Amino acid sequence: MKTHIEGGWVVAFNGRTHEVHERGSVVVEDDHVLHAGPPYGGPADATISARGKLVSPGFINTHVHTAGNGGDYLLLDMAKNDYRTANYMSFAAPLKGAMTPPPPEAVAAIRQYVFLHALKGGTTTIIDVGGLRGDWDGYARLVDDLGVRVYGSPTFRDRNTFMDAHGRLYYDHDAAAGEAAFKEALEFVKKFDGSAGGRLRGMLNAAQVETCTESLLRAGKDAARTLNIPIHTHAGGNLIEFERIMAEYRKTPIQFLADIGFLDDRTLLGHAVFTTAHPWPRYPFGDDLRVLAQTGATVGHCPYKYAKMAMTLQSFQRYLEAGVTIAIGTDTFPMDMVAELRWASILAKIADANYQAGLARDVFNAATLGGCEFLGRADLGRLAPGAKADLLLINLDHLGAPVYADPIKALVDAGCGRDVDTVMVDGKVLVQGGRVTRVDEDAVYAKARLVTQRYWEQVPRWRWDKAGVDQIIPPAFPLRRAAP
Ligand SMILES: [Zn+2]
Repeated sequence: MKTHIEGGWVVAFNGRTHEVHERGSVVVEDDHVLHAGPPYGGPADATISARGKLVSPGFINTHVHTAGNGGDYLLLDMAKNDYRTANYMSFAAPLKGAMTPPPPEAVAAIRQYVFLHALKGGTTTIIDVGGLRGDWDGYARLVDDLGVRVYGSPTFRDRNTFMDAHGRLYYDHDAAAGEAAFKEALEFVKKFDGSAGGRLRGMLNAAQVETCTESLLRAGKDAARTLNIPIHTHAGGNLIEFERIMAEYRKTPIQFLADIGFLDDRTLLGHAVFTTAHPWPRYPFGDDLRVLAQTGATVGHCPYKYAKMAMTLQSFQRYLEAGVTIAIGTDTFPMDMVAELRWASILAKIADANYQAGLARDVFNAATLGGCEFLGRADLGRLAPGAKADLLLINLDHLGAPVYADPIKALVDAGCGRDVDTVMVDGKVLVQGGRVTRVDEDAVYAKARLVTQRYWEQVPRWRWDKAGVDQIIPPAFPLRRAAP
């Protein structure tokens, strides 16, 4: 089966760099690209018109939590009345024993919602860095049914985070739980790596640099090396973590991970915002950017999420110029990879007070080629003969694209996830006209909304101060909610 995508702005890879062909062609045969670039004159079984659209390689989203961050708007609100525990802490730190795991139906509903939401926002490779636990057969089935491409496995850590009755964060060492979760992750990889037609792949997820002991981090990286799979951890993600690692090891999180051999070209670090290059830790003694560049580790930059908390990389351009591999992720909500391009670009300019920082070229590369380095995949993030047929048709017409000289700059300047018209993964059309083809989208949203509502209702039960969502995150105006 040969499909000819014709007439669009084609972003083709020439072996060195992306190049853009006006009124170009992409020909897809089964799961891979046969031709990408200039117009194609050969025969085809089907034709898709891409006129007025950008034909782009699908984006690699390096930070998706299938735990359903759609319900976590509150996590990111900068007006949150819980400043010191901003970022992931407030969610991962309940009163001990007060949080009950959600039922399997709820877990399934949220997973399905997250996969669809990511897909519609331009993600074709989902890096699942942590979700709700359990029913792994159901997880694999979902990946198979929805047609998405996913790297993941259950996270592990041997220090759980809790709040005491006074709202003080503490770390609770639990070696047995860490070992059990690690074993579960290895079993997941053994069982599911390469399943769903090769679209579900294993990678390891050491939860956070400070919630894993050094021995667990070492064991994780050793296993990843043996299995020849990537590994992720959150590091340089918040100041509490930075200070804890400094106190425990007398090193920055980046230097610590480098020194224990955790960092190499198969390692992805979520965020890596707080480094010697960032002004907030006030620790300019060292050169974390050089360390990152020398080890070859990839930084999974999540620009919008951090911008909402008044934080950003210092800076995208400095990392780039130091030789650090940068990839892009959405984390939390919304999972809009097109918008992330603009955030990455604009924040780079603001951080350096330099309008020539964060070029469209560099942020687009980060969201495509950059995300493939730690995966070791030369067949993703690009459109070239032999590459996987993971691509997007993005509507440019209503962006006023005819008056732009360059469709990539138009996309970075003015595009958003809702412009994504068609999403193809492994040669299969999963989104068409902006709607998911394989499942009833509205039914998925309705279920996810219900589950999220229930989750929100339970927040006061596990919060140390019994606060509800509206107290933790005051609404913009008094909010008169309707009776359920
Ligand atoms: Zn995360």
